[in-house]
Amino acid sequence: MNKTFRLILGIVGAAFLVATPQAQTATAVQSRTKTQVETLASDKFEGRLTGSPGEKLAADYIISELKRMGAKPLPGMTDFRMPFTFTAGSKDGGTTLTVTKDAGGAQTFTGAATVQALSFSDTSEATGRVVFAGYGLVVPEAQNFGYDSYAGLEVKDKIVVVLRYFPEDADQKTRAILARYADLRYKAQAARQRGATGMVVITGPRSPNSGAVVPMSFDTAIAGSGLVAASASSEAFAPIMAAAGKSLEDVQKELDGGNPHVAGFAVPGITVTLKANVIRQQQTGNNVVAYLPATTPLTGVTKPWVAVGAHYDHLGRGTTGGSLAGKDELNQIHHGADDNASGTATALAIAEAFSAQPRKRHLLVAFWSGEELGLLGSAAFVAKPPVPLDSLAAYLNFDMVGRVADNKLTVQATGTSTMWPKLLEQANIAAGFDLVLQEDPYQPTDVGSFNTAGVACLTFFTGAHQEYHKPSDTADKINYEDLVRVGELASGVVKRLMDSAEAPLFTKVEQKTETGGRAGLRLFTGTIPDYASDVKGLLLGGVIGGGPAEQAGLAKGDVVIEIAGQSITNIYDYTFALELLKIGQPAKVIYMRGSEKRETSLTPAARK
Ligand SMILES: [Zn+2]
Repeated sequence: MNKTFRLILGIVGAAFLVATPQAQTATAVQSRTKTQVETLASDKFEGRLTGSPGEKLAADYIISELKRMGAKPLPGMTDFRMPFTFTAGSKDGGTTLTVTKDAGGAQTFTGAATVQALSFSDTSEATGRVVFAGYGLVVPEAQNFGYDSYAGLEVKDKIVVVLRYFPEDADQKTRAILARYADLRYKAQAARQRGATGMVVITGPRSPNSGAVVPMSFDTAIAGSGLVAASASSEAFAPIMAAAGKSLEDVQKELDGGNPHVAGFAVPGITVTLKANVIRQQQTGNNVVAYLPATTPLTGVTKPWVAVGAHYDHLGRGTTGGSLAGKDELNQIHHGADDNASGTATALAIAEAFSAQPRKRHLLVAFWSGEELGLLGSAAFVAKPPVPLDSLAAYLNFDMVGRVADNKLTVQATGTSTMWPKLLEQANIAAGFDLVLQEDPYQPTDVGSFNTAGVACLTFFTGAHQEYHKPSDTADKINYEDLVRVGELASGVVKRLMDSAEAPLFTKVEQKTETGGRAGLRLFTGTIPDYASDVKGLLLGGVIGGGPAEQAGLAKGDVVIEIAGQSITNIYDYTFALELLKIGQPAKVIYMRGSEKRETSLTPAARK
């Protein structure tokens, strides 16, 4: 806030003799915060999907606010925007399926309605004899339910043909188990691990979408799955079934009972060539990062930066995953007022407050994009930090802070420094929240990136609600009075951090429950996958203190390429491979450390 504004408020207060200047100031902050939330959550910004025009408009707006308060681009930079690239989706670049008869004659199919690559396919070519492998389902032994579509089949160097979905007529319990392993990525992994070089998916006549190709799905993975995989329509599949001499309807009917002993079969007399072409669409998202330089010399100040931040991206129209919109709200703008226009406005309010105060440290203010797609922006920042991470005294994050109810405010990641509880208690004397402190820094928000990077951090949160990830998360539902108080409390914390000669010491918190993997995983390995990576294998963004991975000698930067005999080319393979491990039973892990191939043994623990 600038001086003139304060003066006017002072005069207004004096003239009416009803409110103190402070109260007027709070009102002004509230109205500015409200304007910011309403602007960010407006239809114009279209839900601020990472990489979209709406995201760019939101970044422009945030930058205009930062400029107004006198914040600057980081030292050595000329722009507030810090771009990062990510895979926003994939499309078919022309996939073909050729069926060649031993007796002579070949038919080639092409065109997206007839043959289409699966989004995770390698862009490559595979030729081989054909094996029909039922639904292509393999249920891990650990599930105590024997089902293996490949039992008795030899598929090495072959092209497997599998049905989409899972047996249609099985009882509910069986369906529930099979459904878990019916994901096409899992089917691809099962095929690849049995030596198949290609996979053709068909939608059976007894299934929904009968005879149609599988639409290419949204998939942020940058690497392929190590297999050539496509779906074929009934037209493209007809010559294969003709060679088999069977009716697909009859074959599917037999499988649909869920009887695990219905066998697949080799298709005689033909060779199939599958050429898949997947174009992965790279897009650019933009973090917005600024700072307010210290106003006094930094001599003798350890860790001269204090950072605050919030993600400003949201789900757009909810078409790329993460939306919880009801059927009647599909494709509508997800306004993201609480998630996370509220946190964005709070970080702006803190910057605004400090723009008019002496500062003994630099204040870094960050607005992340890509959070909803998997912490992409903050991960890119800590991967290539524009200021050394060990010069950050602390990072304070705000994600969904606009729905205070019953005066309750949750502060998470307090275990990252022993000084947090006391510091928060002191700052809260003025704010007066009923604070709920949670030590766990492994939260599904950008604080996770900083915890992994070893920075003492906190994240503020006012709780989940009915409108979470729905179009109805709108600006009119925000509790502005209390939202401003969240900013005041956090400013009190920032003030203490700025004024203290010592910076908080980072404490590594042991992770009790693993986040980021598939829900329901019963194993705990203590690995922190780097979701933004494009390497072949699983790049570790870190390991959890005291967890099995750390005990196995794994460390940040290692690339896991095999677990328990399962080759790992990407994060999906990894989550599936975890299903095959057993608690307390050592598993061989092969990984790359730099260019060196290493081997270790990891013993998974039970999740608590
Ligand atoms: Zn969200």
